[in-house]
Amino acid sequence: MVEKKSSLRTWFEALENLFSSPDTLPPEEAEKAFNGSSRGIPVLVPEKCIGCSLCALSCPSQAITMVPGGKKTIGNKVVEVKNPSFDYSKCIYCGLCAQVCKQNAIEMRTDLPPIIIIKR
Ligand code: SF4
Ligand code: SF4
Repeated sequence: MVEKKSSLRTWFEALENLFSSPDTLPPEEAEKAFNGSSRGIPVLVPEKCIGCSLCALSCPSQAITMVPGGKKTIGNKVVEVKNPSFDYSKCIYCGLCAQVCKQNAIEMRTDLPPIIIIKR
């Protein structure tokens, strides 16, 4: 059940928000902040992925789901592989998936626009 806030508390929060700086940055500032400080956004290089799921198992945010990735020749066998799919709304951009991948199939890209930047 949603707790009802007292009207005094609501007024206080409204006033606080009115005079505080925004929690988000305009796109051009966000991009600058992101490129200067972030580890980047995980992006799959599908040709390198062998579908081992190590990235999904290592993700602290459960932001990776393994999805069908088609057929691939591994050694001398043709097998159906799964590839990681990233849920960027859950991702905390920690870079662990890229670190654990033995195939270097995940790149932490800093040249892409940020998804969400929270100003602190
Ligand atoms: S990206 Fe790397 S760790 Fe993840 S499934 Fe593919 S090969 Fe395994
Ligand atoms: S960067 Fe971190 S949170 Fe995002 S998908 Fe990779 S392991 Fe998960």
